[in-house]
Amino acid sequence: MTENKINKAVVCPMCGELGKAKIYTSVNVTVNPDVRDMVLDGELFSWNCPSCGYNARLTYPILYNDMKNRFMIYLIPKIDRFQLCDQELEDKYSNVRHLNKRIVPDFNSFKEKIFIFESGLDDMAVELTKIAISQTVSKKLGGVEVTSGYLSMYDRESNTMGFTYFTGEDKKPYVQTARLEIYGKSKDIVERFAVKDKKLKGFIKIDGEWAENILYRYKRARQIEKLNKLKE
Ligand SMILES: [Zn+2]
Repeated sequence: MTENKINKAVVCPMCGELGKAKIYTSVNVTVNPDVRDMVLDGELFSWNCPSCGYNARLTYPILYNDMKNRFMIYLIPKIDRFQLCDQELEDKYSNVRHLNKRIVPDFNSFKEKIFIFESGLDDMAVELTKIAISQTVSKKLGGVEVTSGYLSMYDRESNTMGFTYFTGEDKKPYVQTARLEIYGKSKDIVERFAVKDKKLKGFIKIDGEWAENILYRYKRARQIEKLNKLKE
């Protein structure tokens, strides 16, 4: 599958003129590597009004395929479902093993997933690590609220990972690096507590909310283990 393009009518938000936009419903970066950069720098979603020159950013669902790195990301703006099954896609790629399929609700998560999978990382473990490090950041900054964050750096050679968080009321960015041990521990937790999720069919949403859920299960299991030890 190469990319699919459709023409869509767009009403210019500036001058109200009706124009046309080329919309990509899916892209395949294995077949066409140039399109990767166009996605990441937003060029693919940029639209110029032919009448007034206004530049708008279009948001629409797009399926991103990277068969070499074995992942597919479905960006569906504002989607709040955990799982999305597309029979046609399931059948088409049923022979591809260990294919990560994700849905994301916004452009930033979309870019982050691409970065994670291109780096050969496990996004489930990255989400768990992100929570662990966010607690460190909050403590470091005197208990300030850490709203969201994303993986912004990964260096296999120096054995470090970096996250950028948005902190406090004004959502000031804060970068925190971490040794890969925490990621390794997160991977163990994923292997124990996300077995079911790893086997799910279709596209799934792996985000902070998902990670909180796994951590809850992990903590509960630890409590039970402790109680059992007490009984011995
Ligand atoms: Zn215009």
